[in-house]
Amino acid sequence: MAIPSNGVRLVGRLAPSPTGALHLGNARTFLLAWLSVRARGGTILLRVEDIDGPRVKPGATAATVADLRWLGLDWDGDAVLQSSRLTDYAAAVGKLLAASRVYPCVCTRSEIEDAASAPHETADDGPVYPGTCRGRFASIEAACVETGREPALRFRVDRDAVPFEDAFRGPQRGRVAGDFVVQKRDGGPAYQLAVVVDDAEQGVTDVLRADDLLPSTPRQLLLYQALGLPPPSFCHVPLVVGEDGLRLAKRHGDTSLRWLRDQGVTADRLGGHLAFLCGLRPKGTKCTPRELLRDFDLDKLPRAPVRGDEHGLLA
Ligand code: GLU
Repeated sequence: MAIPSNGVRLVGRLAPSPTGALHLGNARTFLLAWLSVRARGGTILLRVEDIDGPRVKPGATAATVADLRWLGLDWDGDAVLQSSRLTDYAAAVGKLLAASRVYPCVCTRSEIEDAASAPHETADDGPVYPGTCRGRFASIEAACVETGREPALRFRVDRDAVPFEDAFRGPQRGRVAGDFVVQKRDGGPAYQLAVVVDDAEQGVTDVLRADDLLPSTPRQLLLYQALGLPPPSFCHVPLVVGEDGLRLAKRHGDTSLRWLRDQGVTADRLGGHLAFLCGLRPKGTKCTPRELLRDFDLDKLPRAPVRGDEHGLLA
């Protein structure tokens, strides 16, 4: 395991969700996650977040791994699939249950929308949970028997904010918007829980990800604390957006690596384009991720979301 010059073990990760093709936006985030750790001599792990039920597309895991390799990213050891770690998530949920940090909740999404006192107030994944099931059931079994529904398990949030320091954005207030789900109604782990259990278990010290996940961080910090696990440092980078300023998506045209490659875009041309989108190289440069290591500087990254269409790549 690589030891950076200050003697502290540094471990980062690439954590793709195989819910579709890797596109310019997520490729840029993975490039930055890779550069920020490799430039300091650290270890990079690959974790495939393949537990998001129906959103996971068949074949997408292999395609994502192939795309990352084609781009020139590497990692230490074998890829870890979240789907192989379900017993670890269940064990963590067991701990939270034993400590009464979670409670059964039978509310559906539409019930939560109807009950939310301030419907305009939203968490990152929907309306703020109004606490309907807090203290409502004596146990999971009681929730099932009384309502005929399989409950989810929600984390009991006991404060408004968890301030933290973000390595790119500086001090964050860390507002926590309501009790959140750690185990879904189908018994599967929620993203918030799985990511914490995995990052802790894999010894991840540095998380770099897109800032659409910024609202998740205070929740995850609460989970670290409740599970008695040391949190990593967090670094949230601006998203790549389409022409309309919204997060890059299919409707902006195909920016998948696969499609670009099929159009004849070479890996070093794409690497150069991503480096340009990171403020690391002028437009039109060709380079591999490895060539960016020697002068990598996160401070060069634009502070605002960058527009990341394929123009200039196909010309
Ligand atoms: N799997 C998530 C994604 O692809 C990233 C999760 C994380 O970095 O915490 O957006």
